[in-house]
Amino acid sequence: MKPFSILPLNKDMLDNLKSLNYETMTDIQENSIPPILKGFDLFAQAKTGSGKTAAFGIGLLHTLDVKKYRIQALVLCPTRELAEQVTAELRRIARFQHNIKILKITGGMPLNRQEHSLKHKAHIVVGTPGRIAKVLSRGTLVLSDLKSIVLDEADRMLDMGFIDQINEIFEYAPLKRQTLCFSATFSNDIKKLGRSFLNHPVEVTVESQHSSEIIIQHFYAVNAQMKIKALLILLSEHKPESALIFCNTKDACRRVSSDLKKSELHCLELHGDLEQKERAEVLVRFSNGSSKILVATDVAARGLDIESLEMIVNYDLPFETETYIHRIGRTGRAGKEGLALSFVKPNEEFRLNEINEFTNNSFHSKDINLAAKIEITNMEPSFITLSINGGRKNKISPGDVLGALTVKGGISGKDVGRIDRQDNLTFVAVKRDVSERAFSLLENGKIKGRKFKAMIND
Ligand code: ADP
Ligand code: MG
Repeated sequence: MKPFSILPLNKDMLDNLKSLNYETMTDIQENSIPPILKGFDLFAQAKTGSGKTAAFGIGLLHTLDVKKYRIQALVLCPTRELAEQVTAELRRIARFQHNIKILKITGGMPLNRQEHSLKHKAHIVVGTPGRIAKVLSRGTLVLSDLKSIVLDEADRMLDMGFIDQINEIFEYAPLKRQTLCFSATFSNDIKKLGRSFLNHPVEVTVESQHSSEIIIQHFYAVNAQMKIKALLILLSEHKPESALIFCNTKDACRRVSSDLKKSELHCLELHGDLEQKERAEVLVRFSNGSSKILVATDVAARGLDIESLEMIVNYDLPFETETYIHRIGRTGRAGKEGLALSFVKPNEEFRLNEINEFTNNSFHSKDINLAAKIEITNMEPSFITLSINGGRKNKISPGDVLGALTVKGGISGKDVGRIDRQDNLTFVAVKRDVSERAFSLLENGKIKGRKFKAMIND
């Protein structure tokens, strides 16, 4: 593992990386940043959690001309949530220099507001293909000064049917540009995409398959009726700090989540029926530790990018092996051991065979001891999420919220967890045992000289 300092980057950039605790490069960074800095196109295969954002982010920021308020880089992501995460990560990496403006342009948000921001000029745009194609066709996003385009998670963008929008977007891009394409898998469609838009790319492959040393996989033979019981047994056996439970349908999601709640387990559910606002809240609450268990469908879970998820459960085995690989890739990140448990119904053994074939493994489904004792103790999350009805738009900073909670006679800073801001809303995680006190501090105190309404989101 090599340190970032061997790269020809300016000192402020290096210092900032250090302040983010980025000391050594991840595999993908080590292999892709040097060719990116040299200006080559790149075709990279790397799994989720491998540090792709910093890989291209450092490249984009290195060549950015800050004095020139024109869009110089465009990053395309498959989902709003991923666009949000990439934007946040790029902003962290961009902190080394003042005034770098990074805009997020995704669907589900008011178009006129985004176009207003675009008019006020920025350097980098991160967005989802649909919305980006739209602002391009309306002429409110102009790419005449574009230097680079990044296709992040290109395989997922194709899976989600964005090929037409991607083609359209490239029609607006200058021919002289750098194009970087990242994908977890190299299907024929991805290769075709690469051939159309990349110019003699450097190809980089890093750990194309999740190595089984890092992700421990178990398969359990269970009947449909026994799945909930089996799940409770596994949860009480492992008592994970964070577990993502995959179901194939929204209905299954709802059922599993309601059954877990009946057993006094705190859990959240995430599926396509939730409104954008609710989805965002669930993502925040799961990521800040206000629930240890999230039951989700594949599409809904796409937005989730939490480091070191301790365990994932395939409550329903997915239909495709690729989906299986995506799912289990959410655990065992950054060198930590992960646990992937899957239920195999009697008529699904063939799917396990497919998984074995594809991943070159020889797993067998084994019986689970259904007589095992279920002990749901110590599964209560340590945090709870509070929110106030003010956010970025009200110029509320995380420090303001922290300040309001830790005033004299308030709660201790160590009882405050993650603070997540949205435009008109701020979420703050606090330890459960001080939540009442924290609520009244937020409800009765003033922030930036103003009163806000507080809520407990539990
Ligand atoms: P990917 O896009 O490949 O899924 P991310 O770019 O989101 O991965 O990075 C995953 C996590 O690893 C993020 O939390 C990021 O801050 C962290 N990370 C990235 N590069 C490094 C590094 N060199 N050292 C330590 N942490 C890193
Ligand atoms: Mg990413």
